[in-house]
Amino acid sequence: MAETNSLLNCRRGNPTGGSNPPLSAKYYFLELINSAVQNHSLYLLPVMEEFYSLQGEGTHTGKPAYFLRIGGCEVGCHFCDVKESWDVHKHTLTSVDEISRRVIANPSKAVVVTGGEPMLYNLDYLCETLNNNNIKLFLETSGSEHISGKWDWICVSPKRKHPPHKKILQQANELKVVICNVPDFVWAEENAKFVNGNCELLLQPEWNNREIIIPLIVEYILQNPKWKISLQSHKYMDIP
Ligand code: SF4
Repeated sequence: MAETNSLLNCRRGNPTGGSNPPLSAKYYFLELINSAVQNHSLYLLPVMEEFYSLQGEGTHTGKPAYFLRIGGCEVGCHFCDVKESWDVHKHTLTSVDEISRRVIANPSKAVVVTGGEPMLYNLDYLCETLNNNNIKLFLETSGSEHISGKWDWICVSPKRKHPPHKKILQQANELKVVICNVPDFVWAEENAKFVNGNCELLLQPEWNNREIIIPLIVEYILQNPKWKISLQSHKYMDIP
């Protein structure tokens, strides 16, 4: 582990000054912790929850995986179903080594890292540790922050309020666009222009309006067969 890495893998700013952009107030206290703790073998992440379940949505629907939900997100989607993840202050700082031990022990040997926006943090060390233990790594990101870590699968779910970096769209294995209304189909196509030729293209109905949106998606896919539908099957099954 490089000594120069931040203790807590926050990507926002530099508490000691320098050329990095200024911290948002929201993340400032985390960098204070970084500065205060001298043991650089301890890496921390604000973990909202961890659980073992089935992947409910996207290309890998139905497969078991360990889920790691990291707190903190500044995108602010109105349809977000994990708004409690947004405030990073509310989540327990947990060592990456401790997290890794639990992930490695899970029978599926797969982890889905989600949020919040997990790419607010540098996850190089987490990924390296898990890769070394033959864990398959799945990332779910809005693409609004640069990618750190080495991933087996990158799902980008682009959000209008903070559009994804084009470079991240090119890296995506899966583009999963939440559809809330008719203009979102245009938004989906705008993002699809930038993905690579092997990327899975998925349209997912916003849960609260699914009864209206699902028929629109079905009709759209029949006319535009490069797309597939993604349903939040975990909500139908009432599992986490
Ligand atoms: S990017 Fe994801 S976690 Fe953040 S507000 Fe939007 S849906 Fe919620």
